[in-house]
Amino acid sequence: MTSDDLTPRTSTRPLLEVRDLNLDFSTPRGHVHALRNVWLAVPAAQVIGIVGESGSGKSTLAYTVMGLLPENADVTSGSILFQGKDLLKMSAQARRNLLGDRLSMIFQNPMTALNPVRTIESQMIDIQHHEQGSRNEKRARAIEMLHRVGIPDPQSRIQAYPHHFSGGMRQRVCIAMALLVKPALLVADEPTTALDATLEVQIIHLLKDLQKEIGCSVLFVSHHLGAVAELCDQVVVMYAGEVVEQGAVRDIFLNPAHPYTRALLECDPGRIKKSTRTLPTIPGEVPSLLGSKVGCIFRTRCRHAYSRCVQENPVEYRIGFDHVARCHLLDDKRLVPA
Ligand code: ATP
Ligand code: SF4
Ligand code: MG
Repeated sequence: MTSDDLTPRTSTRPLLEVRDLNLDFSTPRGHVHALRNVWLAVPAAQVIGIVGESGSGKSTLAYTVMGLLPENADVTSGSILFQGKDLLKMSAQARRNLLGDRLSMIFQNPMTALNPVRTIESQMIDIQHHEQGSRNEKRARAIEMLHRVGIPDPQSRIQAYPHHFSGGMRQRVCIAMALLVKPALLVADEPTTALDATLEVQIIHLLKDLQKEIGCSVLFVSHHLGAVAELCDQVVVMYAGEVVEQGAVRDIFLNPAHPYTRALLECDPGRIKKSTRTLPTIPGEVPSLLGSKVGCIFRTRCRHAYSRCVQENPVEYRIGFDHVARCHLLDDKRLVPA
């Protein structure tokens, strides 16, 4: 492929654009640089998966977009444009107004989102505070949505408390609440990780159906590559706080360009053909995120690392339409920087 064949990554303005985002957590041991120069675009009505090992910064990115960071977090530079406006420059009140209206979130643990001492009914009515309509109309919408996510007998179940539901049913209630407000962007941080495999498949299909129906975009964080392949249009691969590769789901799964993405796919239980007692893992450990780093962040675990990887942090290279990766090997193949 020549540089003339390559088209810019986005032709129309994406719904969400993260630009050169850097974030530190202050800790007694020093500053943990948890997000490094993160770039990301979420087009309208698309599902973007974020994958990477534990500690790669997936949740930190999701919570930064939602404005739900702990007090020791500090966004040191960058911007997050949502519908063209920088979320990081908005007042706290303006950001709160977006939550539960244009922006919704589903958490790994449904109890994070549900109030244990209030009925599902009162919580589902309250969440519609931005919407027009009487209490009865809002109740009817809530029942319809509970029905839609597969809660049996929603007319009476709506009066129950969260602890009356099983884990899988509670997560369905959370999906119903998150989508009831018809958000433009749904952020889902490991929404199926706590569920068994059968329930996970059901929830993924449900999310996909509802996303199409509502036409929202989804930022879907998951360890489960099979779920990402099933649900997502595009995939963002994170390692140690950096986005190392992103592209259409086919590019990432069939033509991965970054050594880390390849290693991650090789360790995916869903793709291992031979029977084995121990699941493979990527040798070595995610590096400490304390302080600044020189060179490629993956170099201590990369079997292709060479002298340049120690001295220089790779820039992003465009491999194809929508497909970019950060690795010096791509420069040696004479690809154009993105
Ligand atoms: P997992 O797959 O385990 O959920 P993750 O990719 O979501 O991992 P994050 O939770 O975003 O990773 O963490 C990224 C890095 O930031 C890790 O090194 C983590 O220890 C650190 N970190 C996260 N929250 C804090 C905090 N409140 N204070 C200090 N460090 C933090
Ligand atoms: Fe490996 Fe070097 Fe590429 Fe980093 S830049 S992924 S160390 S080859
Ligand atoms: Mg996480």
